[in-house]
Amino acid sequence: MTARIIDGRALASGILERVRVQIAELSPHPLRLVSLYIGNDEASAVYIRNQQRSCQRMGVQFDLIHLDASTTEEELIARIQDLNRDPEVTGILLQRPLPAPLHHLRIQSKIHPDKDIEGLNPANIGAIVYGTPKLVPCTALAAIRCLLSTGVPLKGADAVMVGHSEVVGKPIAFLMLNFFATATICHVATQDLAAKTERADIVFTAVGKPGLLTGDMIKPGAVVIDIGINQVPLLDAEGNPTHDEQGRPRYRLQGDADFDSVRKVASHVTPVPGGVGPVTVAMLLHNTVLAARHQAGLPTDPVLDPQSVQS
Ligand code: NAP
Repeated sequence: MTARIIDGRALASGILERVRVQIAELSPHPLRLVSLYIGNDEASAVYIRNQQRSCQRMGVQFDLIHLDASTTEEELIARIQDLNRDPEVTGILLQRPLPAPLHHLRIQSKIHPDKDIEGLNPANIGAIVYGTPKLVPCTALAAIRCLLSTGVPLKGADAVMVGHSEVVGKPIAFLMLNFFATATICHVATQDLAAKTERADIVFTAVGKPGLLTGDMIKPGAVVIDIGINQVPLLDAEGNPTHDEQGRPRYRLQGDADFDSVRKVASHVTPVPGGVGPVTVAMLLHNTVLAARHQAGLPTDPVLDPQSVQS
């Protein structure tokens, strides 16, 4: 068997087309995102540029508030409370990582649940657990959208989630329960990971370890949704590391799955790059539209409603 590749870029562009229509429907109220960036983290700076570009393309105003690494928790929370009160602000993004001693989840929980477009406020995580998701963490939502695109039945399926972070692993596992799948969550202390994954119809992996999931660890015909993003050295045909003109090592992106071996066994697999990543960016804009509708008191379709997706 050779797995079908789930094309995240095509999926994202379909989602964004719909989002564009929804943004036009909300006119004349412009959507405005405010991103809080504290300190100087290189990866965050790249992520912010991508967010800025995506917002620009969709006609969403994107404002960056860059604060010094010495900003205190009280100062940051006061900023968030001002933004919560500002009717012109649709959504608030808190860039991670935060410099120590700022505590990410404690501060994130101060963002009003209706402006929490990353879906990380305890109220939004709680809504998933209650089976009534509103604003779902973008990566979790993207992973589920990739899975739904395959059309495989979810009711009664065995789903294994490798990784149990609050941002990715746990929300996905609870969303799978809402679809009446049987969800198993694996983590660093799980004994015999392969014994769990090889019985699963669906395997998600969000760990950050390249090659963790290999073809011999999955059931023939399983769906593999690879969320991991890892930088690995780019090798030449002889297997030696390559370097750029300045002598710096070259890298490529790889997921947690060993793509070549998994592809021979799975029925569907997401590539890295080009799988869950582009869909995650689209979900940020999708959540922005949802947030705007909640704030305006407009009706919204249920998010990931098992009844409307499949029985
Ligand atoms: P994280 O908070 O570091 O979580 C990683 C999880 O993997 C933890 O729950 C950890 O358990 C678990 N783990 C570590 N080693 C393991 C092992 N050998 N077997 C099973 N589980 C193990 O990271 P995250 O934020 O969830 O992100 C995970 C990956 O997804 C990263 O590669 C990240 O770059 C990627 N990511 C991708 C997107 C996207 O848009 N595609 C978005 C966000 C993140 P313990 O906590 O117990 O150690």
